[in-house]
This record gives sequence, structure tokens and C-alpha cells, in this order.
Amino acid sequence: MPNALAFEIRDSVIAGKGAFALRPIAKGERLIEYVGERISHAEADQRYDDESMDEHHTFLFTVSSRTVIDATVDGNESRYINHSCDPNCEAEISNGRVWISAIADIAEGEELHYDYAYERSGDETEEDEARYRCLCGTAKCRGSIMEPVATFRARQRKRQATRAPRQRQRA
Ligand SMILES: [Zn+2]
Repeated sequence: MPNALAFEIRDSVIAGKGAFALRPIAKGERLIEYVGERISHAEADQRYDDESMDEHHTFLFTVSSRTVIDATVDGNESRYINHSCDPNCEAEISNGRVWISAIADIAEGEELHYDYAYERSGDETEEDEARYRCLCGTAKCRGSIMEPVATFRARQRKRQATRAPRQRQRA
């Protein structure tokens, strides 16, 4: 079975279900594609009302400013891979497709996870922070499954920097 999954889904101590290696996995191995229905951010907002949900959007993956994958519809096992602030996998976006790959050697039986790093908008409320709190329990835990605040601030600075020259050209 050359296409058999390298992991299986079973109950996890982190959150509900999780993905566990069925065999040793080598660093760099591409494990599964994150699939589901491809929708717009507006459609995702319409489908999932943050305010009325106790937990975060576990099955949504932001591919770009235009596209979100909703793995609730036609999703596969990839949607059960949990978040960790000290992950052994990463989500890699290539030509609009999302792949989960190992970034470390993983032993048989080990749980797979990647850093969800949900993009911050900068106006997160206390409720948002609570909703997206991280319980991964690793030494590197930043307390949130949203991206580090420093990453958000760096992106803001970069946007300002790329905007500035254009303003100068117009002047
Ligand atoms: Zn954490």
C-alpha cells in the first residue's frame, strides 16, 4: 500500500482527536494534503459565527486573502491534526494547495501537530484571546494558537515600508 497514510486518527490529550504516526516519519516528508471546499472569507464568516461558537474554527484553513478551505465539507484526516507552539510538522502552501509536511524526524506513536498561527487583525478582544487560547503544554507555548504578536507587528511594519515608496513616487 504505497499510498497508505503515515498516521491514524485517535483520541488526543490536546483536543478531542489527534493524528498519531503509524511508523517512523522522516523530516521533510510530505504527509497529506489539507483539502475541503474552497470558499471566500465572506462565505466562511457567514458559515461560522465566531460569537456563537465556544471553540475556534478547527476546520478552516486560510490559504490566501481570497481563499479559505472548509474541511468540514469533503475534508480528510488532515483536519484532525492539532496545533502546537512547538510542532513537528508545518503547513506548506504551494500553488494554492496546502500540504502538511514533517519538519522533524517523528517516532512511531508520536502525535503530529503544526503551528496554526492564525493571522491576527490587530483588534482581538479578550473574548477572542480566550477562544484561541493554546493548551499545547509545551515549554515554548505562547498561550495562543494565533500567530505571535511580534509576527503580526512585523507584517504591519513591512506593509508600511512597502507603501511608503509608492507615496513618494506620487508626490
Ligand atoms: Zn501552545
